[in-house]
Amino acid sequence: MKKLDLLYEGKGKRLFACENEDMLIAEFKDDLTAYNAQKRGNEKGKGALNCQISTELFRLLEKNGIKTHLVETISDNEQLVKKVQIIPIEVVVRNIATGSLTKRLGIKDGTVLPFALVEFYYKDDDLGDPILNDEHCLILDLASESELEELKRLGREINVILKSFFKDRNLKLVDFKVEFGRDKDGNILLSDEISPDSCRFWDAKTNEKLDKDRFRQGLGGVKMAYEEVLKRILKGNDR
Ligand code: UDP
Repeated sequence: MKKLDLLYEGKGKRLFACENEDMLIAEFKDDLTAYNAQKRGNEKGKGALNCQISTELFRLLEKNGIKTHLVETISDNEQLVKKVQIIPIEVVVRNIATGSLTKRLGIKDGTVLPFALVEFYYKDDDLGDPILNDEHCLILDLASESELEELKRLGREINVILKSFFKDRNLKLVDFKVEFGRDKDGNILLSDEISPDSCRFWDAKTNEKLDKDRFRQGLGGVKMAYEEVLKRILKGNDR
């Protein structure tokens, strides 16, 4: 499939038109950003790692009944995806308190939450991605009431599938962010990516961080951590 015009460039990906007007080509970049792009970096090969990791996880989710935008992976760092209208809500699911949750509510870092917490954030860099409740979403006309319920249900279902998958691979799924889009018939599809850029993974035994927190906190070994996540995902792959 030939890559045509660049339609959009985000922090982690570029989106191109292609010969099929119902589809796009997503190219995963090596750039790393944190704190609303105030901290920037680049790690050669990171885009390809995220592309492979996200492909594996989207396929796993599809196998378990979650509809996604992924059509096929066409190179090391490119996916062919269905064109969707992105719902500008970041759906964050948390199993263990860390990051912004600990700061906002004073919960001790590492506290295991009594149930998976689902939160919505407004996907708006100028506003710094503020947290939203359902009524904010309705007032801003980001999604309908039934769509909000579907986003929460999908977030929880994805969490159940991924948490157990990573437990078998000695990784704790601490929290993650997912994005959804509407296809031309209004179906909600999991979109964007699921990777160590958008999830927190801690080693089950040592609690070593194997995700973008290594970059955020300047711990080094970013690429090695992403490679380790991919290695564990592929281990025991029965496909
Ligand atoms: N996250 C993300 N993009 C964002 C904000 C958060 O992918 O713009 C992910 C982040 O990697 C983590 C989860 O969502 O897995 C929760 O992040 P948190 O709210 O704790 O934000 P942070 O501490 O990164 O500011």
